[in-house]
Amino acid sequence: METKQFKAESKRLLDMMIHSIYSNREIFLRELISNASDAIDKIYYKALTDDSLSFDKESYYIKIEADKDSRTLTISDTGIGMTKEDLENNLGTIAKSGSLAFKKETELKDGYDIIGQFGVGFYAAFMVADEVTVMSKALGSDEAYKWQSTGADGYTIEPCEKETIGTEITLKIKENTEDESYDEYLEEYRLKAIIKKYSDFIRYPIKMNVTVQ
Ligand code: ADP
Ligand code: MG
Repeated sequence: METKQFKAESKRLLDMMIHSIYSNREIFLRELISNASDAIDKIYYKALTDDSLSFDKESYYIKIEADKDSRTLTISDTGIGMTKEDLENNLGTIAKSGSLAFKKETELKDGYDIIGQFGVGFYAAFMVADEVTVMSKALGSDEAYKWQSTGADGYTIEPCEKETIGTEITLKIKENTEDESYDEYLEEYRLKAIIKKYSDFIRYPIKMNVTVQ
């Protein structure tokens, strides 16, 4: 498997973002949920003009699952998914925003929303994760692909198994350091609070695994 390199500007931007620009790390979840919601919107709009597609509301949702043992946080959606080419084009070029033009930022609570401005949303995941895996199956495709990256070192793409149309993004949450703790991003109550704060306006259900006891 070949490791492809990010474009130089992307590399610099990614590095800058992870290390300095944004101290408000929690917004990574808003960015991933907003992408998931955009992906469901795309199916919804397709269904409006394509009679062979029906949009049954129950089947479209976003799911958040945290696993402390494996230190993973998974954000999955039943949206339009990405082909191999989409993965390459959309996740291989940083700051090439597709949705920025028509996206209205509803909240700028925490000051200047630089990530929203530049459309580097997806890469916000690297503020809390040292590895990001994206498994996706596009609408109309029989094949699924896995995109994986540990950050500025590039990414790999390979075929994978995935039954359903949509995207599943798994973040390997960083280990705590002397100065920084990342454990909170695996805590249900904390995740719920972040979702409530930034993603309250999302039109689709956001499901979470609930642990009783
Ligand atoms: P933006 O949302 O502003 O376009 P992002 O960096 O957040 O920028 O995402 C880049 C692109 O990656 C999106 O425009 C979309 O095409 C694709 N993408 C990201 N997440 C998903 C997802 N969950 N499902 C489908 N496509 C996605
Ligand atoms: Mg986005």
